[in-house]
Amino acid sequence: MPPHGPEDPAPGHTTSEGRSTCHHRPPCPTADSPDRGAARSQVLFPEQGWGRLCNGVTIFDDTGELLPDGKIVRPHRPTEDAA
Ligand SMILES: [Zn+2]
Repeated sequence: MPPHGPEDPAPGHTTSEGRSTCHHRPPCPTADSPDRGAARSQVLFPEQGWGRLCNGVTIFDDTGELLPDGKIVRPHRPTEDAA
């Protein structure tokens, strides 16, 4: 039984950063979709006020979003209470 070496090329498996493979049913909306916020959360750090969605979008406590391509979406609160 060979030891698990540190260098494992994993042939045929290409992991491109920013491109998520969603296996949910129905599939999560992509980061380009206006409905991207509805994607399932992969990781959540409520104490830190942010989380990462399945489609690679980072969501923040103030409803702001950071898209996989680096685009920043300003906070859009569900209740538009323009003072
Ligand atoms: Zn998904």
